Amino acid sequence: MTTSGIKNWQLIHCKWFYMQGITLFPFVIYQHPALLSKPSFINHEHIHLRQQRELLIIPFYVIYLLHYLFNLIKYRRHHKAYLNIVFEREAYTHENTPNYLQSRKWMAWMIYWK
Ligand SMILES: [Zn+2]
Repeated sequence: MTTSGIKNWQLIHCKWFYMQGITLFPFVIYQHPALLSKPSFINHEHIHLRQQRELLIIPFYVIYLLHYLFNLIKYRRHHKAYLNIVFEREAYTHENTPNYLQSRKWMAWMIYWK
């Protein structure tokens, strides 16, 4: 059984988790079960799974962290730095686009550099 393409074995519920969710390939860790019925949450995390897979996982986290640190220096605010990470830009832009991953081009996150 899947939740919009994410298989049940990939979903880990952790009610003490301090964020709504995080994708650590191949798993999606989520704070509250209600999130699983929220298409934008599922789409968002599914986009991150795709990004991580196409970067062979570790490079994703290296780029993610470096871009966050760069943004933190640039914006001086955690939330703005986070929202402007290239991978988050793609995920937030398309989390409400149904079937986005079916038409998404390989390495599509690269067009979100600015
Ligand atoms: Zn995200």
